[in-house]
Amino acid sequence: MNREITCIVCPNGCTLNIDFEKNGDGKTSVTSVRGNLCPRGRDYAVQEMESPMRTIASSVLVTGGELPLASVRTNAPIPKERIFDVMKEVRKVTVAAPVSAGDVIIKDVLGLGADIIATKDVMATLV
Ligand code: SF4
Repeated sequence: MNREITCIVCPNGCTLNIDFEKNGDGKTSVTSVRGNLCPRGRDYAVQEMESPMRTIASSVLVTGGELPLASVRTNAPIPKERIFDVMKEVRKVTVAAPVSAGDVIIKDVLGLGADIIATKDVMATLV
């Protein structure tokens, strides 16, 4: 099988022509990559085809804050196939204000090696 993707590692945006096979276990194995101007393109093609990773952004509920939600994101890519599981974990969380950008909201979410961190300050309401 064959697929073309655009390399996003640098602004050159090389078109990568990828030959790959589907194994018996449903996994993909890249057999050749053409069109890459440097080795990083081949690495990107193999990663994207065999074990794609993504960063995700969402929000968590906040209690006692000036806003009801704080935006969050992963601080490292996670396997694309685990996005739904991670979003379920994020939806379970409620944090108490104040929240500061950079606060770790979930450490090493699902053991995937990425933390969920706040990307926005939410001040506590004055009482
Ligand atoms: S293959 Fe290399 S030169 Fe081409 S876009 Fe990717 S990183 Fe840049």
